[in-house]
Amino acid sequence: MPELPEVETVRRGLESAWRGREVTGVELRREGLRYPFQADLEERLLGARVVDVWRRAKYLLVEFDNGQVMVSHLGMSGKYTLVAGNEMDAKSASNPMISEDEFIENKHDHVVFHFADNSYGVYTDHRRFGFIFSLDKEDVDDNKFIAKIGPEPLRMEGVWGESLWDANQFAKKIQNRKSPIKTTLLDQQIVAGLGNIYVCEALHRTGIHPEKPANELLTKSGKASKKMVDLVAECQLILKEAILAGGSTLSDFKGVDGSLGYFPHQFGAYGKEGDACNQCSRGKIARIVQGGRSTFYCPKCQK
Ligand SMILES: [Zn+2]
Repeated sequence: MPELPEVETVRRGLESAWRGREVTGVELRREGLRYPFQADLEERLLGARVVDVWRRAKYLLVEFDNGQVMVSHLGMSGKYTLVAGNEMDAKSASNPMISEDEFIENKHDHVVFHFADNSYGVYTDHRRFGFIFSLDKEDVDDNKFIAKIGPEPLRMEGVWGESLWDANQFAKKIQNRKSPIKTTLLDQQIVAGLGNIYVCEALHRTGIHPEKPANELLTKSGKASKKMVDLVAECQLILKEAILAGGSTLSDFKGVDGSLGYFPHQFGAYGKEGDACNQCSRGKIARIVQGGRSTFYCPKCQK
């Protein structure tokens, strides 16, 4: 599943490749993905130019010069492949496009965005949990998916809106919250887009037991404890590291098949059940299930 750093990578790729391009067609090859496509999706975007590409949590927001904003969620397996209309774009190091010869068609290519310069973007999603729709810019903040999202974990360019997570705000939100810290951090209304992998890693690095009740990380007066401040900082650091690992130049963002957004991760705890802990070297990484998701942690050093 694409996590926030991967969605950010896709955002940067789309921004670099699509900004300024004019839509000449939106080819829908099935009725819908997770939801049916809007009947007028193509009509909304036809003739419009891409102005900006934003991200809010794991939602991509492509803004057009006619006031439309196309929202795209990659679901479990969504990918974009950007195919250049000319050799110069395909060879440019600052452009994540591939040449037409390199593009390999896939039966899970469900949507194709065509541009005036003959370039195109292909949305592929074999599990079809992703979705795409377009709406008026002024309706974005009230949209049912966007409106309820918690603050953004990191301040960075390209983030839609202003809300930013920090330890004080986190403390306020969890005053009476006795649910485990792990599941609390995965609650998208508390903080947006912190995925399972990153939460496991941050708890491991800060020595916090994943089952610790969230409000036990508060001081007696209900403020953020030192541990909580460290945890928030670690979550942010891990996301930054992952975004950096996604590619130092835009051409590195492309996977072997030319698609954007998936890269290998290096982890200390996630997926390492039975391995020696790299934080304390006394424990072995264990796996438990919380809220239907695997948690990897060290029983020796996470308290
Ligand atoms: Zn350990």
